[in-house]
Amino acid sequence: MTQQLKSRIDALPEQSLRDKVILITGASDGIGKAAALDFAAQGAHLILIGRSQEKLEAVYDEIERSSDTRPIIFPYDLNTLSLEVAREMAYAIEQEYGRLDGVLFNASILGSKMSIAQYPEQEWMDVMNVNLNSSFYLTRALLPLLEASEHGRILFTSSSVGRKGRAYWGAYAVSKFATEGLMQTLADELGNTTNIRTFAVNPGGTRTNMRTSAYPGENPADVPEPSIHMPLYRFLMSSQSADLNGNSFDAKDFSAS
Ligand code: NDP
Repeated sequence: MTQQLKSRIDALPEQSLRDKVILITGASDGIGKAAALDFAAQGAHLILIGRSQEKLEAVYDEIERSSDTRPIIFPYDLNTLSLEVAREMAYAIEQEYGRLDGVLFNASILGSKMSIAQYPEQEWMDVMNVNLNSSFYLTRALLPLLEASEHGRILFTSSSVGRKGRAYWGAYAVSKFATEGLMQTLADELGNTTNIRTFAVNPGGTRTNMRTSAYPGENPADVPEPSIHMPLYRFLMSSQSADLNGNSFDAKDFSAS
């Protein structure tokens, strides 16, 4: 399947996301920023959420310079997201576009790397809020808009530690297991009754601030840049992935060389 899918990804036409409306969380840096630049270059209209207004404005400027689309930026701390606020975001998107073609749930925090026995209670909640609960609230609020699309896509971001438990990865690992579970549950609920397709991607080691925090001793030059994963992300967001649903991918299997 991997080789066949790689060929399909390679064959994806230019402008494969032309006029699609896509929301990205954690779009101000790292992998989310790379996705924002890539999707904009492919013609998508973007709604970008991140914590830092300054960083989001820098992404806006870069997109304005390099493509013919203008994103909507939405600085917001997802740790404080509620269903009510998520519904306000959905309402704003509905007023502007009337539908949503894709969501990339990418924002995450690492939290402390320590044993479950010692894991700080508040930090556990913070990690779960940003990495998992915000995706649940946004999914609930955005589903009607995704159903209004011909090819709705929900792309979750996982991790190796969300597929096999690893000591000292604490709330982060558990949030990624739950993210895979949310993805699979949605895929099963929506696959037969809607056009929405749901996937998870594990980017694997990628050169970002989060990676440096997790592996401070590593030489960043030894780790691939986020842009290398974009052909897979783009394919999954496109209408070309309509025959797939509920899959978990390792980005390294599909990365551009
Ligand atoms: P970065 O730390 O580089 O970027 C994280 C992004 O999430 C930033 O845009 C950040 O916004 C945003 N964010 C964090 N907390 C919040 C919050 N409370 N509210 C709103 N936005 C927030 O991470 P990566 O790019 O490395 O990670 C992207 C995804 O890939 C994550 O889900 C991560 O778990 C996953 N992943 C990454 C790997 C890697 O090696 N890099 C490996 C495996 C998985 P701001 O900059 O404004 O604070």
